[in-house]
Amino acid sequence: MESTQSLNSSLEEAKRFIELNDDFLVISHINPDGDAASSTCAMGWLLNKLGKRYVMANMDTMPTRFSYLTGIENVQLLQGLQKYEPFNHVISVDCADFYRFGELNTVFHEQAKLLNVDHHATNSHFGSSNLVDVTAAATAQVMYSLINYMNIELDLDIAKCLYTGLLTDTGGFRYQNTTPKVLEIASVLLSHGVSPTEIARIALETITPSHVAMLQCSLNTLSFHDSKKIAWIIASANDLMLTGATADDLDGIVRYPVNISGVEVGLLFKQLSERSFKVSLRSNDFVNVSQVAALFGGGGHIRAAGCTVEGDLHEVIARVVSACEKALL
Ligand code: 5GP
Ligand code: MN
Repeated sequence: MESTQSLNSSLEEAKRFIELNDDFLVISHINPDGDAASSTCAMGWLLNKLGKRYVMANMDTMPTRFSYLTGIENVQLLQGLQKYEPFNHVISVDCADFYRFGELNTVFHEQAKLLNVDHHATNSHFGSSNLVDVTAAATAQVMYSLINYMNIELDLDIAKCLYTGLLTDTGGFRYQNTTPKVLEIASVLLSHGVSPTEIARIALETITPSHVAMLQCSLNTLSFHDSKKIAWIIASANDLMLTGATADDLDGIVRYPVNISGVEVGLLFKQLSERSFKVSLRSNDFVNVSQVAALFGGGGHIRAAGCTVEGDLHEVIARVVSACEKALL
């Protein structure tokens, strides 16, 4: 969405989708991160303010670090949805495509209408209504715009929630998506009583023993392309099992290869099964990693993207590194 006019018409469409319907299912992507958790809870908060009935759900459990988010304890897993009728009105948040929310589509009514609220440049506009602002740093920022557009007053709960999404998706207000607008919104949220120290500590700084153990293992696998501009690490299934690390425990590990001076692209290969790897891609200044991820059926943002690649480890690494090498030219 480039122009203010089209943003306004999408906000109006989203507002109508919410106002004219009821009994919503609110969902986000598998392995939810800070923005997915925040925008799910923010949508729940908004529906609650409007007196709407809704159920929030995710394929995976919400990271425990975000247990302070308003309503997060009510987010259901797929099994928990069996007691409801198929949902006619679905709202997805922070999902770039229809496959990102996994098998939650099995509880949609076959004629379900879907409102797609997101900020990924690779968003495929898969909803029957789409509120996609690719200039927003986080889906939490899109939620802020929607809440404002609907003239709902903020309180401390929603301020903490939106601040968490902004903070995590900008890497602590450091990545290139940290715009003047992001800091303006952060300022408004702080004025509602958010403690930046407390949220930064919980959302960004606290690491688990499993995270540290996995960091030790994966740093042992650090490898470089001949150019020294591409660096990668591996999280093998064996190491993941030995350390007991969850997807959330791996958060941030991909920053190590990309933060090495001289490196433009950093990669993390996380083994999902014998021949399946989740690849996290990060870049510093010029490689558009969302385009590289898209070559493998994934997507994301210019500087942070992901995809899943099948094959044996060495073949997968060779294919992804070669695609990054071409993107460096
Ligand atoms: P991460 O590497 O942290 O899993 O993901 C980085 C970014 O890429 C996030 O914005 C995430 O939503 C997106 N992403 C990760 N994996 C996929 C994928 O398989 N498909 C798409 N479309 N986006 C992905
Ligand atoms: Mn996001």
